[in-house]
Amino acid sequence: MDLLEYQGKQLFARHGLKVSSGEVVDNVEDAVAAAKRVGYPVVVKAQVLIGGRGKAGGVKLASDADEVREHAGNILGMDIRGHTVRKLWIEHASDIASEYYASVLLDRSAKQPLVMFSTEGGVDIEEVAEQTPEKLIRHHVDALEGLSREEAVQIATDGKADADVIDGVADALMALYEVWLDEDATLAEINPLIVTPEREVRALDAKVSLDGNALYRHPESQSLSDSENEDPIERRAKEQGVQYVALDGDIGILGNGAGLVMSTLDVVAGAGGAPANFLDAGGGSDADKIKQAVALILANSAVKAVLFNIFGGITRCDEVARGLIAAFADIKPSVPFVVRLDGTNDVEGRRLPQEAALPNVYAAQTMNEAAEKVVALAAGQSVGAPA
Ligand code: GDP
Ligand code: MN
Repeated sequence: MDLLEYQGKQLFARHGLKVSSGEVVDNVEDAVAAAKRVGYPVVVKAQVLIGGRGKAGGVKLASDADEVREHAGNILGMDIRGHTVRKLWIEHASDIASEYYASVLLDRSAKQPLVMFSTEGGVDIEEVAEQTPEKLIRHHVDALEGLSREEAVQIATDGKADADVIDGVADALMALYEVWLDEDATLAEINPLIVTPEREVRALDAKVSLDGNALYRHPESQSLSDSENEDPIERRAKEQGVQYVALDGDIGILGNGAGLVMSTLDVVAGAGGAPANFLDAGGGSDADKIKQAVALILANSAVKAVLFNIFGGITRCDEVARGLIAAFADIKPSVPFVVRLDGTNDVEGRRLPQEAALPNVYAAQTMNEAAEKVVALAAGQSVGAPA
């Protein structure tokens, strides 16, 4: 679950990480009033769950009320790569001597927390990692020991932070590690971590993702989950009791059983496709639940083709087929479906869609065949006649 900048900064402040004071608003007049309280000059910042706001014109300095009015008016409602700006963070502007970078995340391949630091902040960190990897310090932390002060100082030193702010950077790294650990974050990133002319080290931006499955341990963060942070389709799925996770691709996936769905994602990726979601219809799904699931998958406008991968056990393939037929009657999908039904009542499950002569539904015998077909269909290629 991704947090907006201002929400991330609130977490930072709770853990003693220095941030600038500010207020969140959703209209121009409140922005002007907030700026007055915060004190000029201010920065007017778009609050959307995507980076690169500065480049897109979503971060503007303002030195008086007229400028706040102008920028707030321009930024509210602005579209930043598919994200509409509905909130602004009005922050007291900082003077910047240097822009650094810091982050903490879980390195799954090393099975350890990873702290990263660079003096090349304020820019795309992937570029730094690619072009000047020696300028990005990567330090693995013993998860049981945690990040020690000595390690934090070493990271700042190795990264060649200015000598007089080594302590300040180390403080920031330790606080950031604490945010990551105590808040059950999957990512805690500051870009830029600035050094002011007064040599104070402060987080100018915040990118925090929390582990949604650990939210029950954080009653104070629970309100964030029903706000704008959640993918709207994920929220709908949760309300309907469906296991759905939004992904970045264009191939809708439905399977039964988390293990099968995860393998399906892998097989589709292996065939060169990009899954648009994880959806586990669960055991014993009836036609109604399948119809609901199809509606969820198609609510994502990025979906260009859908793969049904069912291995019938408790779930009966004929029920799944009935759900698919009901979904077609109700929703009239415009994208092709590939259906692989195997297991309990599979013969009938395959017969029903054929009899119903569903348009644009392709049968597949195996998971690999299904994946290849759906990848081809999503790319707009022909795979023979529907069956
Ligand atoms: P992002 O573009 O979405 O990463 O948004 P940031 O919060 O990182 O802001 C983008 C850039 O705006 C920063 O790298 C800074 O260069 C600049 N910026 C943001 N806040 C301030 C500020 O208080 N003072 C100054 N001088 N520049 C700022
Ligand atoms: Mn940034």
